[in-house]
Amino acid sequence: MIEVKNLKKIYNGNPVLKDVNATIEKGEVISIIGPSGTGKSTFLRCLNRLEQPDGGEIWIDGKNILDGKTDITAIRRKMGMVFQSFNLFGHLTVLENITLAPMALLKKSRTDAEKKGMELLQMVGLANKAHALTSELSGGQQQRIAIARALAMEPEIILFDEPTSALDPTMVNEVLSVMRNLAKTGITMLIVTHEMRFARDVSSRIFYMDEGIVYESGPAKELFENPAKTKTRAFLRRIGMFNSRLNKSDFDLYHFMGQFTEFAEKQTLDAKQIKTLHLILEELIANIIFPEIALAELEIGISEETKQTEIRISWQGKNGNPLESQSGAGELARMIVKKRTSSSEYSTLENGFNQLFIKV
Ligand code: ADP
Repeated sequence: MIEVKNLKKIYNGNPVLKDVNATIEKGEVISIIGPSGTGKSTFLRCLNRLEQPDGGEIWIDGKNILDGKTDITAIRRKMGMVFQSFNLFGHLTVLENITLAPMALLKKSRTDAEKKGMELLQMVGLANKAHALTSELSGGQQQRIAIARALAMEPEIILFDEPTSALDPTMVNEVLSVMRNLAKTGITMLIVTHEMRFARDVSSRIFYMDEGIVYESGPAKELFENPAKTKTRAFLRRIGMFNSRLNKSDFDLYHFMGQFTEFAEKQTLDAKQIKTLHLILEELIANIIFPEIALAELEIGISEETKQTEIRISWQGKNGNPLESQSGAGELARMIVKKRTSSSEYSTLENGFNQLFIKV
C-alpha cells in the first residue's frame, strides 16, 4: 500500500531524513519509535506531503505522490492525520467539528454526515457529548474527537503523530484504548509514539528510526525482545552511551575521568559505583590495554534502570584477549579488574576488529 524509497528531507542544510526506505502493507499497524529529533514526525509529514521531501519516492496505492502530475488532494483524502495538538474548532460543537469536512469535501448531505459522525462518536465513547462545545472537553476527550474527525473522512490510512504526548498522564490511556480498538478494524495505521508498551502490544511491526534512516525494523515482539543492533538495544533498554577514543600517544587520564564522571552522574550512579568504575577503567586502560594496544575505541553503556554497566573496547591489529595475556607486567591490574567485574568476553568481529566486552 505504501512504498518509500530513498526518501530525503533537508532543513537548512541539515539532512534530517537521509535515506528512508519502507514498505507497508494494507492493514498493518506500524509504530515508529526512536530518540527525539531523528525525523519520525518529518517522515509522517512527508507521507501526506505536509512537508515537501528533497528526494526519493513515495508510492501510495501504485501512485508516486512526489510526481508533480499526481492529484495530491485525492491522495490526502486517503490519509487521515491525528496530531499532538488536536486543532479542533472550540466554538463549534463536537458533531459540527466531525461533519464539517465530510460535507465540504466529500459532498455528503448533513443527514449522512451526522449519521456517520454519531457512529464514530459512539466508537470513541463520546456520543453523549455530540452537542457540547469542544472547548468544554478534557484533553483526552478532545483527542478522541480528533480521531473521530479523521475517521469521518473515511481514510484508508491514518497517521498519528505523538497523539498522547501533549496529554495529562491521567488521560493517556483513554486515547490509547481508542487506538487499540481502531487497530483491530483493519485500517492501516502509522503511529509515532513514545508509549513503548502500547507500541509493543498493538503493532504488527516497529520501525526504529535513528541517524535519518529506518535503522532497524521488525515484528514488535522480535524487535523489543531481541533487537539486532546496539543503538536499538540502547534505546529500548534506556542505556546511556559514553564513547571515547583511546589513543596512547595523547591520552589524558584526568580529562577522560572528568568526562566519564559527568556521564556516570547523569546516569545517576552513586559515588561508590563511580569509584569502582574509575578503578576498573584506570587499570584497564593504563595497565592492560595501552601496554599492548596503542589505539582503541571505548564504549560504555549504563542502564538507567538497573545501573548495569557494559564496557566494550575494540581495536585492530594485535589479536588475543588482553585480560588473559601472559605478560607479567599487568598481572595485578588484571586481578583488580576481574575481581570487580561479573563477566568478560573476548571475540573477533566480522570486520576483523578485536573486541573485549566486560559487564560490571
Ligand atoms: P522527531 O519526530 O523524531 O522528534 P522531527 O521530525 O520532529 O523529529 O525533527 C527532526 C529534526 O528536524 C529536528 O532537529 C527538528 O529540529 C528539525 N525540524 C523539524 N521540522 C522542521 C522545520 N519545519 N524547520 C526546520 N527544522 C525542522
